[in-house]
Amino acid sequence: MDINTLLKQQQAFFNSNSTKDVSFRITQLKKIETLLKSNEALLYQAIYEDFGKSQFETYVTELALVYHELSSFIKNIRKWSKKQSVSTGLVNWPAKSYVIPEPLGNVLVIGAWNYPYQLSLLPAITALAAGNTVILKPSELPKKTSEVMANLINNNFPSDYFCVVEGGVEETTALLKHRFDKIFFTGSTAVGKIIYKAAAENLTPVTLELGGKSPTFVMADTDIKMTAKRMVWAKFLNAGQTCVAPDYVLVEKAIETEFLEALKAEISAHYSSATIEDNYLQIINAANYKRLIKLLDKDKIYYGGQTNCENRFIEPCILHQVTFDDDVMQDEIFGPILPIITFTNLDEAIKKVKERPKPLSSYIYSKNKKTINKILHEVSFGGGAVNDSLMHLSNNSHLPFGGVGLSGIGAYHGKTGFDTFTHQKSILHKSFWLEPNVKYAPYSHFKLKIIKWLMG
Ligand code: NAD
Repeated sequence: MDINTLLKQQQAFFNSNSTKDVSFRITQLKKIETLLKSNEALLYQAIYEDFGKSQFETYVTELALVYHELSSFIKNIRKWSKKQSVSTGLVNWPAKSYVIPEPLGNVLVIGAWNYPYQLSLLPAITALAAGNTVILKPSELPKKTSEVMANLINNNFPSDYFCVVEGGVEETTALLKHRFDKIFFTGSTAVGKIIYKAAAENLTPVTLELGGKSPTFVMADTDIKMTAKRMVWAKFLNAGQTCVAPDYVLVEKAIETEFLEALKAEISAHYSSATIEDNYLQIINAANYKRLIKLLDKDKIYYGGQTNCENRFIEPCILHQVTFDDDVMQDEIFGPILPIITFTNLDEAIKKVKERPKPLSSYIYSKNKKTINKILHEVSFGGGAVNDSLMHLSNNSHLPFGGVGLSGIGAYHGKTGFDTFTHQKSILHKSFWLEPNVKYAPYSHFKLKIIKWLMG
């Protein structure tokens, strides 16, 4: 079916008002939950074929979040969709005021490849929970996951309500020529700009979930072993192909050696040659593999960095003695390479971070409240964690997720996500029985006095 016809059908379905019925939405969300749960084996198989992702990582980093949001929406959307009464000033008395949360309409969701299920399905189900229709365009790079989502959704939902359109640049460009009521995009900052421009043609509101270089501050007073443990997990999960992964580390010079040794010990404990195959991902494609191996500066490798182009394998790698001028510090790494930069003066380190675009995430490891608060106060970033990395995403019902500046526009997860796909329609509701003459001409000093009192 061509996009024009598909969108026209979705517009007609939305205009039938069916999606405004919260019971209808809950039924659809339950249907998605059952569909995913009863086809988990297919989902695991597809993502393993795409880039060797294990069932464990797929469940923890993709499906668990989707299930969690589904049950939270099923539980809460009745409450979130209710009109909210607010107070009304004297100037309008007698009247009441309320806000009606209403769905935006026809939504386009464009997904990224690195968490192909989560980054496509989470925004899609959030848009559906808020009462919209959805066209989902997953990333084309993990072919099998795109295919499995298209089959499951297109065979079980009418296309005028929820439909997957597969494809890459050409298909996305074609989709962007049409007028949607909302575009939700996850991907790179460069493509984010293309989406923003296309959306501007129709004044379509956008949420842009983008990337960037996320810094991690490691202070000398930290618990070194625990810091290394949590950081190694967060960095090498998904083989570093995570938008909120610690991109680089700023560590106080005084603990450099001890910290590097702790990182090395952690990597050897969890990614030894005996276990790595089943517990570690491939790089998504040859282009990304080639891009990453160029960043493996042999003079700076402290640990790891073995590669195998046949299965697009890059061993977890620590680079030391890195400077802000090195190639690895120019763009988001998005792979299993962790550069370590030392500093002696925190203000200088903060200044360097602030000279760069605002990151999607940042992490601070320290036991000193003053230091933690100083960094939180002075550095702008999307979101993050203190004494951990990445785990802020696991509190997705309560912590909004989104970037700032070049790392994104808008946010989602939980109620924030519901609001992202909702228009707040404000209503003043009057009765007919009173209409004081005071606002009508001819004006007078006396009327002005009363108006000042009423409106002041
Ligand atoms: P990408 O920008 O290359 O692709 C994202 C989507 O845009 C894909 O569906 C792709 O088909 C489409 N696309 C690509 N080029 C296009 C073009 N010229 N015109 C129209 N559509 C186009 O991003 P990616 O490689 O899939 O993902 C990696 C980037 O995404 C990283 O920068 C990462 O940090 C970021 N990311 C952000 C988040 C987040 O939640 N903020 C999550 C994951 C990834």
